[in-house]
Amino acid sequence: MSLRRYHQKRDFKKTAEPYGKKIPSKSKLLYIIQKHAASHLHYDFRLELNGVLLSWAVPKGPSLDPSVKRLAVHVEDHPLEYGSFEGTIPQGEYGGGTVMLWDKGTWQSVDADAKAAYKKGSMTILLNGKKLKGLWKLVRIHSDPKNWLLMKITDEYARPIDEYDITQKKSLSVKTKRNLDQIAGKTKIKKAKKTS
Ligand code: MN
Repeated sequence: MSLRRYHQKRDFKKTAEPYGKKIPSKSKLLYIIQKHAASHLHYDFRLELNGVLLSWAVPKGPSLDPSVKRLAVHVEDHPLEYGSFEGTIPQGEYGGGTVMLWDKGTWQSVDADAKAAYKKGSMTILLNGKKLKGLWKLVRIHSDPKNWLLMKITDEYARPIDEYDITQKKSLSVKTKRNLDQIAGKTKIKKAKKTS
């Protein structure tokens, strides 16, 4: 996407048409993880790029330990609106089960060209979620285009997994603080008494 051809065709000393501002591509993009209790529990890792949510299913979820590489299976792009979804998908439907919005925030590409890095299968990203922060790496395994690895890069947010397993320590919805059973409606949530 470039205004080069638009500019070539016009003499802006003579036309009142707008030159067009060089709009930098939005640097802060949506990042979310949905914890999905389908046939197998997994974490759907999603990054906004090109107007969609690039999506990977991470069976074991993320780890803050840079020595732990988590399999991330590339799945189909999802619409941006999917980023606020929490609820249940009917059994028998695709992805049937309970979906929790586990983390939400923004991400920035550390690579100069995020699209090129994605195509190449090696993305360095900076997450600013409620749960995950700092530098992360997504790398495609060359032998299989669907299989990628998600891993933490060492920074101040990295922690050894035997000391801190974030999927265990932070298991609730970032949106509603509910657990999967509560989202599924199996457990009633205690409502705080209103004081009026
Ligand atoms: Mn899923």
